[in-house]
Amino acid sequence: MNFAVIINITYIIAAILFALGLKMMSSPVSARKGNMLSAVGMLIAISATLATKGLTYQWILTGVIVGSVAGILAAYLVAMTSMPGMVGLLNGSGGLASLLVGWAVYHFHPHSDTFTTITIFLSILIGGVTFTGSVVAWAKLEEVIISGKPVLFKGQQIVNFVILLAIFSCGIIYAMDPAANYPVFIATVVLSLILGVLSVIPIGGADMPVVICLLNSYSGMAACTTGFVIQNNILIVAGSLVGASGIILTQIMCKAMNRSLANVLFSGFGSVIQKEGKGIQGEIKPITAEDAYLILEAANSVVFVPGYGMAVAQAQHVVRELGELLEKNGTEVKYAIHPVAGRMPGHMNVLLAEANVPYDQLVEMDNINPTMDTVDVAVIIGANDVVNPAARHDKSSPIYGMPIIDADKAKTVFVLKRSMNPGFAGIQNELFYYENTRMLFGDAKQSIQGLVAEFKSS
Ligand code: NDP
Repeated sequence: MNFAVIINITYIIAAILFALGLKMMSSPVSARKGNMLSAVGMLIAISATLATKGLTYQWILTGVIVGSVAGILAAYLVAMTSMPGMVGLLNGSGGLASLLVGWAVYHFHPHSDTFTTITIFLSILIGGVTFTGSVVAWAKLEEVIISGKPVLFKGQQIVNFVILLAIFSCGIIYAMDPAANYPVFIATVVLSLILGVLSVIPIGGADMPVVICLLNSYSGMAACTTGFVIQNNILIVAGSLVGASGIILTQIMCKAMNRSLANVLFSGFGSVIQKEGKGIQGEIKPITAEDAYLILEAANSVVFVPGYGMAVAQAQHVVRELGELLEKNGTEVKYAIHPVAGRMPGHMNVLLAEANVPYDQLVEMDNINPTMDTVDVAVIIGANDVVNPAARHDKSSPIYGMPIIDADKAKTVFVLKRSMNPGFAGIQNELFYYENTRMLFGDAKQSIQGLVAEFKSS
């Protein structure tokens, strides 16, 4: 068997491990093993690639050391709530790598065949857009240099369209005679980088996680085209898997928010923030931890509804502790999981798994909703939009049509948040004014700690 065949067989094994790993990541029970399996697949793929003859190992080793140190530091230092931004930067690195590899191949082989020339152009275009788009997405999420709000100006979409047209025109000129058109090639690079910035700035800060998934898909496509440029089969396979899974995830998120991708990309969602509950009837009824405890102590069933605020407060461990105390008290405890609670898909599953909440207590929205009217107490921990009943009936609401957890149908609702500030969608929540709702104001972790203390001292 010749060397190239062995390498390709190794790549097929790696590709199978990638696919199995991705499949296993679809359930919290098998996700860790799936991650491990994919990592083993990547190790096999990289080892096979390194076995290819003619590589300059000292540079590769330098890259491995720099990349590993950066990766380990980021894994330890980046907070869970900053994960979408971190993923954004990683996507951007993938895009930049594709751009640079495409550029290097063009630089050293300007007389390539038409197929390679076209794939180089696509690597530059998709890689460039992914790189600057991801950096802007990260900056918006972390509010570094630019605000998280949508940046809108007149004729924005026309400008973007004209730039895209210019990029393709440059692409055609360059492809006709690559060796003679270095300046046109550079213009393609620059315009792609500009397009990345301009296509992400009109998107609202909190829509960024969707955009990050989309950019993740782009980074996969960029890697795939680069795989064609350097004729590396595993890069083509891995790029396609990332491209496809990124776009599927983007679709899932849009569906869970009841928005189209076009609406996310072009509507400037989140540019208006409501500080007050205009037109909402009813009054806010604050409650103390002592009174909340008395109600919880008498409850037969409690459903926790976690949201973004639980992630901010890092309250998951103390929530699990409260859940255990309630169970000891004979109460049935469940956790209602909304698909877009928090700021990334699976955010709540990850946090609750980290706190060792049993998987069988996590109930998806579609399964918990039919039972909500039998629940004694719904404890909303830093969730807001995902429990806003306006999504069911208020056609003027920006979240109208988004499926929600029907927490309002529980006999009593506790809402744990710090103030009356709105959540991601920037709108007030009528649930906070409902007859059966009590507001337990304060940081979610401290509020739950207060309830735990009440249980322990009783
Ligand atoms: P929201 O963003 O609607 O609300 C979060 C609430 O948490 C706020 O009202 C805030 O109120 C409260 N909060 C913040 N910090 C704390 C704290 N330390 N202690 C207690 N409360 C706190 O969150 P949801 O999870 O309900 O909804 C997620 C939103 O994000 C949805 O609109 C969804 O569409 C969107 N989204 C989700 C994505 C995903 O993949 N999960 C991706 C893109 C968007 P206060 O400041 O008063 O404390």
